[in-house]
Amino acid sequence: MHRWFALLLSLLVVACTEGTLRVQPAEEWLGGEPEAEAMVQTFREVSQAIGEEARSQCLQQTTGQNCEFRIFVDLNPQAPANAFQTLDDKRQPVIIFTRSMIESTQNADELAFVMGHEAAHHVLGHIARQSEIASASAVEFGRVAQLRGGDAAAIEEAQKVGAKVGVQAYVKDFELEADQLGTIITHNAGYNPLIGAKFFDRIPDPGNRFLGTHPPNAQRVQIVLETAGQLGLTQ
Ligand SMILES: [Zn+2]
Repeated sequence: MHRWFALLLSLLVVACTEGTLRVQPAEEWLGGEPEAEAMVQTFREVSQAIGEEARSQCLQQTTGQNCEFRIFVDLNPQAPANAFQTLDDKRQPVIIFTRSMIESTQNADELAFVMGHEAAHHVLGHIARQSEIASASAVEFGRVAQLRGGDAAAIEEAQKVGAKVGVQAYVKDFELEADQLGTIITHNAGYNPLIGAKFFDRIPDPGNRFLGTHPPNAQRVQIVLETAGQLGLTQ
């Protein structure tokens, strides 16, 4: 549940649902029923403000990267609470929220914070960095298997394990980096990251498991507090 920060898992989700994922741009989404109007309006406003700020951070911090963010709603009503970022076939950054994810946020600040975090992953080039790390680690593990006299199947297996271990070693750092830049994006877009980060209080704490994919919530809150402090925010 609430694996909105699990980039790796999110990518797997994209891969698994390919062809069946039906999405609608945030600015066109109507929500379906009249009771959803306020939530839909908030989502549209937040999407526009975060999209603009993410674009400006991306233009300042990167070169040659597509900075035209597009934000979508996953129209599957059964999809679990999740938000993730990916690149489309034109390498355009895409952020997708499921409806239950939107519903699980309690105010515009929380929604902005989650969206700012996802946008930050893109600005920081995490998809590309992750695949570089996976390749390098796969090569290294494969080499060790070869030196030990492994056959082709053993080498291939070692490469697969290597890719996984390599990514897992960095994924917590990526999450904290995204929380840090996400805090700045949220603030600059006109929302309060300290209120936004209260979202962490309601999601299960993964603790500090070895090779876990998420940093402990306390560590994430700490980086938000530090960054917000640097921005002059105290509450
Ligand atoms: Zn994340």
